[in-house]
Amino acid sequence: TQALLLQSEKMSSLGQLTAGIAHEINNPVNFVANGVNTLKDNFKQLNVFIENYKRICELESLEEIKKYYKIQREDDHHFNDLQTSTNESLDDVEYGTTRITEIVNGLRVFARHDEVEIKEADLNEVVENAIVILKPKYKKKAKVLKDLDANIKPIKCLPGQLNQALVNLIANACDAIDFKGTINVKTEEQDDDHVKISIRDNGKGMSEDMVKKIFDPFFTTKEVGKGTGLGLAITYGIIEKHNGTITVESEEGKGTEFVITIPKKLRKVNKSMDPALA
Ligand code: ADP
Repeated sequence: TQALLLQSEKMSSLGQLTAGIAHEINNPVNFVANGVNTLKDNFKQLNVFIENYKRICELESLEEIKKYYKIQREDDHHFNDLQTSTNESLDDVEYGTTRITEIVNGLRVFARHDEVEIKEADLNEVVENAIVILKPKYKKKAKVLKDLDANIKPIKCLPGQLNQALVNLIANACDAIDFKGTINVKTEEQDDDHVKISIRDNGKGMSEDMVKKIFDPFFTTKEVGKGTGLGLAITYGIIEKHNGTITVESEEGKGTEFVITIPKKLRKVNKSMDPALA
C-alpha cells in the first residue's frame, strides 16, 4: 500500500482538538474515578474485618472461638476477593494517572510557543542533534545512516521546533522497527529556495487507512506509556509554521518514508494553522 498525503485538511481546528482532548482524558479519568470508588468500598470492608479480628482477640470461651473460626474461614475467602479487587483498582488508578500525565505532557509540547524567533541555523546540525538525542532509544535495534549534504548553507528557521519535529519522526521510525533495522536520514537542496529532509525506516510500515489518520491528534497504535498520538500532530504544526510540507509514503511490512520540505529562508512564522497562535 502506498499513500501520499496532502495534509492541508489534516490539522484539526481548535474545536476538534478540544473535543479530542475531552474525549481522550475522559476515559482515563473514569478509570481513576471508578478505581477510587472501589478502593473506598474496599477500605470500609477492610474495617469490618479489622473489627472482627479485634473481637476475636477478646473472646474467652472455646465455644465462641469455634463459632467465630467458622465465620472467619468464610471471611478469609472474602478477604482474598477484597485483595484482588484492591490490586485491580490500584492498577486502574495507576493506568489512569499515567495516561493523563502523558496527555498533559504531550499537550505542553503541543502548546509550546516559546520559540517564535526565526534564527539562522545549520540544518545538518539540527538533524545531527535530533539523532544524538535519540541514541539511547535506537542504539540497541536500529542503525541510523546519515546522508547529509554538506553544501547546504545555514537556513532561517525555528531550530528548536525543527529539532522537535525531527526527534518525533526519528523516534517513530525507531518504534516501527521491531527487531533490527535501519533508519536513513537525508538532507538535500530541493531547489534554490527549499531544503528537503527525509527520514526512512525499514520498519513495519502502515496501511493506507492508517496513513490517513496518523496526523490526527491522539491517533496512536502504541500502548499506554509508549505514545500519546500527539507526535505527528505536533510535527505537522511545526512544518506548517515553517510554510513547509510534509508527506509520507508507506508500505506495510516494508517501511515508511517521511519527507519534509521547508524554505531556506523563513521570513515570517505561519500562524494560520495554529489556533493558539492565530
Ligand atoms: P505516537 O508516536 O505517540 O503514537 P504519533 O502522532 O507520533 O504518535 O504517531 C501516530 C501513529 O502513527 C503511531 O502510533 C504509529 O502507529 C504510526 N506511525 C508513525 N510513524 C510511523 C512509522 N515511521 N512507521 C510506522 N508507523 C508509524
